[in-house]
Amino acid sequence: MTPGPFLHILKKVSLKSTVLLLLLLFGAFMGMALPHDAQAARASLPEFPPCAPVSDNSGDQRDGVGQLIPNAQAPRLDFCAEWNPEFAFNGHRCCSKVQRSKGRRRKRIGSKVCTMDRFKPNFCDELTPEQHAFIKNVEGGKIKDVLSVIIQEMGKRGDQAFCTVNNGFLAWGRPIVPTAQNRIVLRAPDRCTQFATDHMAGLIEWTGRQVAQEYSDPKYAGVRFLIGDIAAPRGGCLAGRSGPKGHASHTTGQDADFGFLSVRPGRESPNAFITDFDAKANWWLIKNIFKNPFACVKVIFLDKRHIRKLGKAVRGDEDWDKYKRFIRHMPSHRNHLHIRVGDGPGLPGCVADARPEDELEEDFDGMEGIEEPMDLIELAPPVEPANNVPL
Ligand SMILES: [Zn+2]
Repeated sequence: MTPGPFLHILKKVSLKSTVLLLLLLFGAFMGMALPHDAQAARASLPEFPPCAPVSDNSGDQRDGVGQLIPNAQAPRLDFCAEWNPEFAFNGHRCCSKVQRSKGRRRKRIGSKVCTMDRFKPNFCDELTPEQHAFIKNVEGGKIKDVLSVIIQEMGKRGDQAFCTVNNGFLAWGRPIVPTAQNRIVLRAPDRCTQFATDHMAGLIEWTGRQVAQEYSDPKYAGVRFLIGDIAAPRGGCLAGRSGPKGHASHTTGQDADFGFLSVRPGRESPNAFITDFDAKANWWLIKNIFKNPFACVKVIFLDKRHIRKLGKAVRGDEDWDKYKRFIRHMPSHRNHLHIRVGDGPGLPGCVADARPEDELEEDFDGMEGIEEPMDLIELAPPVEPANNVPL
């Protein structure tokens, strides 16, 4: 063989490829030259660290006005898959995408539209075996002191409320169970929408016991603490009780609707939301809600007519100045109170620089032209919601 063709091939191979080839040969030689123990150590390492199934960007924890909460842990995807009833519909995201309307009128920020699969007569099929057992044990008298169980278990399994109150879900939701001790009556017991975080459940159980204590006189034995919607067993979008309306919030177990306290000697409190507002009795109830030792109250929504009535009835009560900032007008709250709590106990507002007025704008970008309450949104079919959402 003459050197002619060989040289010809060499000339054809670029300099870059030759350098690469040499580097590879050198690397292989160095690998073989590693001492045995170092080779063994290297072999025991995984090739790449396993990909943690963390949420994508939509899983970030955001506050009520959509700002990222620094250092907040985004839930893991497998956790969301287990708990969030809307996980698959969300495109396997932890938090539902928020709808942001581009129109000028009645703009909503941070709210979402319930899909048709959330529009059902009840959410009882979403109960966990643990929730079933808890209800059975309280009703059957096996759990005698609900409040002490809640206190024992509070926070033990970490966070329960994920994403925002408008687009989130609830883990290990605590059912509210009426007992003689808490005077609670559920507005719609067959709907399975009485699930809360342990902090909210603590607030409700404790407040119910305050009602029982305050109205212990037999002539007030019929006074009840009426609880409306809180959240579905695992949270998620809560479609309305009837008609094409649903809640915008109530997805994390941190929002609850309470009926007004109705106090009439010898009479049973109504089981329905009524507009009749006894300012004195309800100021007493509201004060207790603010003072509960389990959950800080971010805001209470109430119609402005009732707020005005409260203001007149509370003359001379120094608590009014402390709490009035956190009682905000919201249309469609003429027959109930809407309470929103934070992640733990504390003073009203939950943080030192609380801005309860922002809670109002959570669903609306601007205050003009508001005709709908933030609590009520229209249901849209699941197909192409962006095009079908009425602005
Ligand atoms: Zn509500």
